[in-house]
Amino acid sequence: MTFKSTRNSFLIIISIIGLLHVFLGLSLGWLVLPSIAYLALLIYGSASIQSSFHAPVYCYANTVEKEITLSFDDGPNREYTPQVLSILAQYNAPATFFVIGKNIKDNESVLKQIDADGHSIGNHSYTHSFFVDFKSLQGFKNELNQTAESVFNLTGKRMKLFRPPYGVTTPNLAKAASSLDYRIIGWNIRSLDTTADSAQTISRRVQSQIKPGAIILFHDTSDKTIQILRQTLHFAQENGYKIVSLERLLALEAYE
Ligand SMILES: [Zn+2]
Repeated sequence: MTFKSTRNSFLIIISIIGLLHVFLGLSLGWLVLPSIAYLALLIYGSASIQSSFHAPVYCYANTVEKEITLSFDDGPNREYTPQVLSILAQYNAPATFFVIGKNIKDNESVLKQIDADGHSIGNHSYTHSFFVDFKSLQGFKNELNQTAESVFNLTGKRMKLFRPPYGVTTPNLAKAASSLDYRIIGWNIRSLDTTADSAQTISRRVQSQIKPGAIILFHDTSDKTIQILRQTLHFAQENGYKIVSLERLLALEAYE
């Protein structure tokens, strides 16, 4: 099920109802049900990154190897990103950081450190605004380009990985990402590390979902994540899971 197939099915159904209305006097009330179903599918497809509704999204790797990857959204953050980097270094674990362009300002050294430590950097939009999903195609391209420019100026690398803010995809976002040649990266384990749950609860939730090929979503913006990350890495080690880079897990390149 994709946006296009859903839209086309909807158009066919309402055309048939329209014809039946014109020729057989069918009540237009019959439009209500398909309209509600269409709207529900649109909302579900846009909100659920794993549905690949608007664009193909990588959410896990198809593998039986005990390999998983870690990703951190919403940085760079002066306080927490360095702590995350230091724990990753202790465990010799690579990760991907999906950065918000506007957070790079005044945190340039943090961004450079992510790169210097051998981790990958991906695009997570420039503003991460709550209204980002209402942007035009050009608006989305600007979001991606502004962040790409900042990262390029500091690292000399051109990013190719993109994680949509809030995991929401829209037709304009999908078009912007594909025209700028980004690969859209989702996740299949959402830690919910910025919710009110305790670090213990969150760690248990993450651990119970770990399986070969998993992509875990964390945020390098909170105190709790530091503790959860330690526990997750410890769990992985104890259970024979190897932390690998996203590039290796999905067999793709992070940069141009
Ligand atoms: Zn985010």
